[in-house]
Amino acid sequence: MSWKAVIGIEIHVQLRTQTKMFCACAIPAEGDEPNTKTCPTCLGLPGALPTPNRAAIEKVLAVGSAIGAKAPATTRWDRKNYFYPDLPKGYQISQLDLPLAEHGKIEVTTSTGTRTVGIRRAHLEEDTARLRHEKARDGARSSLVDYNRSGVALLEIVTEPDIRDGETARRYAEELRLLLRTIGAADAEMENGQMRVEANVSIRASEDAPFGTRVEVKNMNSFRAVERAIAFEITRQAEVLDAGGTLTQESRGWDEGSGTTYTMRAKEDSHDYRYFPEPDLPPLAIDPAWLAAIVATLPELPHARRARYVAELALSEYDAAVLVGEPAAAGLFEAARAALPSLDAKILANWVSGEYLRVARDRVVTIDAAQFAALVAAVAAKEISGTTGKALFEEMAAGPLDIRQVITSRGLSQISDGAALEALAAETLAAHPQALADWRAGKQQAIGFLVGQSMKASKGRGDAAQLGEILRRLLEAAG
Ligand code: ADP
Ligand code: MG
Ligand code: ZN
Repeated sequence: MSWKAVIGIEIHVQLRTQTKMFCACAIPAEGDEPNTKTCPTCLGLPGALPTPNRAAIEKVLAVGSAIGAKAPATTRWDRKNYFYPDLPKGYQISQLDLPLAEHGKIEVTTSTGTRTVGIRRAHLEEDTARLRHEKARDGARSSLVDYNRSGVALLEIVTEPDIRDGETARRYAEELRLLLRTIGAADAEMENGQMRVEANVSIRASEDAPFGTRVEVKNMNSFRAVERAIAFEITRQAEVLDAGGTLTQESRGWDEGSGTTYTMRAKEDSHDYRYFPEPDLPPLAIDPAWLAAIVATLPELPHARRARYVAELALSEYDAAVLVGEPAAAGLFEAARAALPSLDAKILANWVSGEYLRVARDRVVTIDAAQFAALVAAVAAKEISGTTGKALFEEMAAGPLDIRQVITSRGLSQISDGAALEALAAETLAAHPQALADWRAGKQQAIGFLVGQSMKASKGRGDAAQLGEILRRLLEAAG
């Protein structure tokens, strides 16, 4: 039979802070020696007391406001108790019933339209340590604990069971990451575990049937994996039920290689954690003036920025999404516009999403926005050719470049003088008799070839469009 899926997403993100959630230890970086970023508090030593990290709380309040959530007048910390070697205290400090943010939403665009995903809550907690399972050459196994990550500030964001398919789940996770990066709350790199997405998936016979048994899917380390894992899980559950079987509430892992999920463990219910208010920390009152000051520093948010680009700058929805989707690209676009307000927004957008994003995909590039604006303006005014412009952009991506000075000193001005182009085209035609023969044989691409050769002869300075027209005329005249 045809089943309807119900999906809710839980995301843990490492907040971008200088220090851990309840102590002054620095955030571990890639390649740190194990157990070098620790202190009595994050090692869980007896008698060590926690002190909340103000910046982490401010970031969560900012995120809450950005998703339209409400902050409580007073919040509280709770102990979530469980035993595991990566949890030295035997409990994690978290927030149970007074999260820092409640009842928000995020709107996402999918291939079939816009969807609103309700956010149930967002709260702060601390990360656990990491276990490293080793196997020596003689086969002996050992497990080592690295406490560097113990106590790092984590934001957990839980959606309502509002999502109906894997694509929407993926777009939600992408939009959330973009929002977190825009606010500066997190870097949220999925590949290195800064953002961990868990999908709760169940199926039911119809949209108004009660929810089915849910399975929690973990270990997806890319957005694509989120979409694939959910699609697999929906099919798997349908097959079990269609065969007359039953589902168990459990955690399953996603195996990227085989494209399947596998049983990890039965899922605990929250009462198993014996939550109780954290005795080592007082409740936290959220001063309305403090909250207002945080909200006042929020930058323009992605959905507002996309809407503005479409409404005020007449960019297409697609162009707006591409620019806004990469904060560095939107930043360059904004800065270039500020440097040269007269610049055509659509042309500028094309240069940012074409040239800049192409280069920025592979490496870190710093572009001087004013020089970039001058470059785009010179091409737009046909002062230099598009080919020259692209070559100059490559140079600009490699190091500082003074566009005005370079155009003059290297004599890069575009040749758009009719007589000069005419001469150039004639020379090229004379030098390539085969192209004329091809044209006579009906090969239209001979024009493209001749334009390319003319551009080469002019060192990229010719006006390619005009050259095309002139060459066509010359060829037609030559019969
Ligand atoms: P827990 O804290 O035990 O993981 P929650 O009740 O907080 O459980 O729910 C976790 C997530 O699962 C939420 O995103 C919620 O929307 C989602 N969810 C709850 N019930 C279902 C269900 N039957 N099918 C799919 N998702 C569900
Ligand atoms: Mg949960
Ligand atoms: Zn510490």
